[in-house]
Amino acid sequence: MPGAELTVKLMAMTPDAVDVVYSACRQCYSPAFAGDEFRPHRSEETRSTKVDAGEDACATKEALIRKVVASGHESPLEHVSMTFAVRGISRSCSHQLVRHRLASYSQQSQRYVDMEAFAYVIPSSIAGDAELSKMFEATMQDIRQKYHRIVEALNKKGIKGEEATQDARFILPEAAETKIVVTMNCRELLHFFSVRCCNRAQWEIRRLANELLRICKEELPSIFGKEAGAKCERLGYCPEGARYTCGRYPLKEEAEKNG
Ligand SMILES: Cc1cc2nc3c(=O)[nH]c(=O)nc-3n(C[C@H](O)[C@H](O)[C@H](O)COP(=O)(O)OP(=O)(O)OC[C@H]3O[C@@H](n4cnc5c(N)ncnc54)[C@H](O)[C@@H]3O)c2cc1C
Repeated sequence: MPGAELTVKLMAMTPDAVDVVYSACRQCYSPAFAGDEFRPHRSEETRSTKVDAGEDACATKEALIRKVVASGHESPLEHVSMTFAVRGISRSCSHQLVRHRLASYSQQSQRYVDMEAFAYVIPSSIAGDAELSKMFEATMQDIRQKYHRIVEALNKKGIKGEEATQDARFILPEAAETKIVVTMNCRELLHFFSVRCCNRAQWEIRRLANELLRICKEELPSIFGKEAGAKCERLGYCPEGARYTCGRYPLKEEAEKNG
């Protein structure tokens, strides 16, 4: 049984996110107190409020946020976090995901959850090839049976529950589907997108990154604007070098030569 389709659900987000980021940005340059400037329930994603004339060149909260983000002054973005529930990714993908250290994770355990009927992710290159996909499916079936036999044999020796599953899981494949809850602040999300939306990133984590980016753009367009995504979007060139570039943007040297 192949795994569920990739599903990403936004579970929670810092309330009044635009106000929080806006106030944090303003605090850097204002003698006033962010606590006073903070106006809950006045999200600029849906309503434009003029900033006091003469105080700032930016007419709206979003405009200031966009300007600050574009300037690379990203620390105000750390005050807003987003929590996502993810399913339908492989353990191979989640391993890449959890390499991002400035995030919080809660992942389905292979100790506490019985993996006898584990679902799995099949790469399309394999799924699209009749012979390879047959071999792949047969291997998954074989692993399931052997997992069952190991758990049974351990149970007979008196090793039960998670004492058994924690050892039986050693034969599970990287293809095994997992479920995970991820929390990242907006600065880390931008960084995550810069490396994982890049065409050089492996397809499964890139697919996840693109789905997260789609949700972020929908929720907070002033933070996740047109430059959010692979790093070339912001740089205007590809920093990956001739061997790895996808060709979407010129290489750094070419961009410099062309001014
Ligand atoms: C295309 C691609 C190929 C990859 N191939 C491999 C591979 O072959 N082998 C492998 O092991 N990994 C590989 N990785 C993973 C990569 O090395 C990083 O571990 C992963 O992308 C997490 O990125 P990060 O460390 O920048 O980000 P995060 O952990 O998300 O951190 C964000 C930023 O915070 C700062 N930061 C975080 N922690 C520290 C710290 N301890 N010290 C200083 N600054 C810190 C850094 O500026 C960092 O960029 C690959 C990644 C990609 C995108």
